[in-house]
Amino acid sequence: MRPRAGFALAYGASPTLTTLNEPMHAAASELSITDAVNETCPWSGKPIAADSLTLYNGAVVGFCNPECRDKFAKAILAFEAGLQARRVTNAGLDQ
Ligand SMILES: [Zn+2]
Repeated sequence: MRPRAGFALAYGASPTLTTLNEPMHAAASELSITDAVNETCPWSGKPIAADSLTLYNGAVVGFCNPECRDKFAKAILAFEAGLQARRVTNAGLDQ
């Protein structure tokens, strides 16, 4: 009996498509520039760079350099904090 074999197989079998359903699971280093929904940096209009990708709403978005990406990341973090607070406020009303 090898109870761990099945687990290891299931755990190791993670086709690329799985990441589409679990976007937040992927680390930044695993993002591919070919998956990015945009081709140019929204800040500068320059082409996006492979080392300047992040996730937004589960989709890969790109920027021309890490500084632009970090500026975007800070912005959505601020929005997320506000959304989270609103969800907490509405939670009692919806359920
Ligand atoms: Zn940029």
